[in-house]
Amino acid sequence: MKKGLVIVISSPSGGGKTAVCREVRKFIPAIKFSISLTTRPPRRGEKNGRDYFFVTEDEFKKYIRQNKLIEYALVHNYYYGTPKDFLEKTISRGNDIILAIDVQGAKKIKRIYPDAVSIFILPPSLKVLKQRLQKRGLDDKETIETRLKNAGKEIKQSKDYEYIVINKKLTDTAKQVCSIIESEHN
Ligand code: 5GP
Repeated sequence: MKKGLVIVISSPSGGGKTAVCREVRKFIPAIKFSISLTTRPPRRGEKNGRDYFFVTEDEFKKYIRQNKLIEYALVHNYYYGTPKDFLEKTISRGNDIILAIDVQGAKKIKRIYPDAVSIFILPPSLKVLKQRLQKRGLDDKETIETRLKNAGKEIKQSKDYEYIVINKKLTDTAKQVCSIIESEHN
């Protein structure tokens, strides 16, 4: 049986990757999403087991020791990691899986799965990114500054991705991501 595709999507914080992933699912309902573990506290509206598995640092380290994460990284001062079991089972059943992870994680996944498809979602500009981070009102000023500082570095690494999509209009961006997935299948 043919294995499913691993699709890695990265973007700076506020770049819209979560919204894009949700929209992609409307077009391709069979696609699976990897739910990461994180030590970051939940934001308003986030649910454990839907957005992330929220864990303590001790719990996270236990997952590392037990080799249950296929990759993990320290991002904006918190740990984030991709559960190994779900990813492996999903692709071996022939289903595609999307991983919305940072640039460090993307590199590790590409090393493990050279056939993984990497897509970087770019905001139209840094100005728009700042506005989006402020508008969503989920982070304090200091967090926004850290994320903007990191955004510059992350955007520079977009050149290492196979595809770059500029996120101007959500539906258009999601459609472009769907076309990439379709063409990779062909
Ligand atoms: P946020 O706190 O905004 O949800 O996520 C912060 C950053 O961590 C984003 O760039 C997001 O893609 C990344 N991230 C989320 N889950 C994972 C993961 O499992 N592994 C890695 N390496 N990065 C992740």
